[in-house]
Amino acid sequence: MAETVKTDIRKYSLDELKLWAQAQKEPAFRAKQIDEWLWKKRAVSFDQMTNLSKGLREKLEDHFVINSIVLDMQQRSEDGTFKCRFTLHDGFKIESVLIPVPKDNRYTVCVSTQVGCSLSCAFCATGQMKRMRNLDASEIYDQYVLINEISEKEFGHPLTNVVYMGMGEPLLNYKNTLQSIHLLTSEKGLNISPKRITISTAGIAKMITKLADDNPGVNLALSLHAADDEKRNKIMPINETNTLSALIDALIYFHQTTGNKISYEYIAFKDFNDTIEDANKLASLCRHFPVRINVIEYNPIPGVTFVKSSKDTLDRFARHLKSKGIMMTVRRSRGKDIDAACGQLANQD
Ligand code: SF4
Repeated sequence: MAETVKTDIRKYSLDELKLWAQAQKEPAFRAKQIDEWLWKKRAVSFDQMTNLSKGLREKLEDHFVINSIVLDMQQRSEDGTFKCRFTLHDGFKIESVLIPVPKDNRYTVCVSTQVGCSLSCAFCATGQMKRMRNLDASEIYDQYVLINEISEKEFGHPLTNVVYMGMGEPLLNYKNTLQSIHLLTSEKGLNISPKRITISTAGIAKMITKLADDNPGVNLALSLHAADDEKRNKIMPINETNTLSALIDALIYFHQTTGNKISYEYIAFKDFNDTIEDANKLASLCRHFPVRINVIEYNPIPGVTFVKSSKDTLDRFARHLKSKGIMMTVRRSRGKDIDAACGQLANQD
């Protein structure tokens, strides 16, 4: 007889759990207890649900599985950054990064939303992998929970911020991204302020508009990396169908609808996007709404010809933007020695 495929219980809403409990002739409050075990206490097996009867736990076991992610490898960089690799229930691997900044009391987790990525940005290691599948909301949520444990153990401090900037394009896994935000921010889950969460996108105009309409209260970062369409088309193929003017219109809408923070990520590549003319174009993209630019040092990856800008060029670029009154920060890259830096996540050992 063919084995029955069990459902991942964390795909059930509380209402669906209530219906299931009812069908099993269990009182409705049992559904609430199960839900709490799954999200608040992060049970990874039904045996851990000790306030349920043995009979109910066996019924759960017969019907469901809990597809938690499992820590597979962790590496610590010289600068304190941790890169963690997780195995998913079907054997795929993903990575998350913990970026501690103790002097500012800031402990940020960078989470992945897809296995691989379909957008093939020219400078990105993840983009060289095929997109295999979207992550479930629970798999995004698990990354937070497990990295939070590492943060508490290693630094004696819980996570303070979440960026959706790991493997994959969050807005192309929209439903699960939104649901994971709900799990992180709701009382049912971890009750984190959405102001501490940033969704980073390569730029999908209609999904930015949708995010504004749904408004989960999070901040938005656009991975810009070039300030005109011609250059952006060369490094980010998604720009061919989502031009800068379409993106700016979507961001204006996001700003007007939500008032949430917007930032631009801009990796500086030597002789490609680091001239004064580039800085002027970048500045002109900042006049539509309040925006902060994070200029990021490039981390070379194998098989890619880009070179990072020199320190002097980067300083000149930054000075020029500042002289125009632009809010900006230069981010020296973190976790380079363990391939945990921006654009380097590719499940390497
Ligand atoms: S930079 Fe982001 S969107 Fe582009 S290929 Fe890499 S993971 Fe995908």
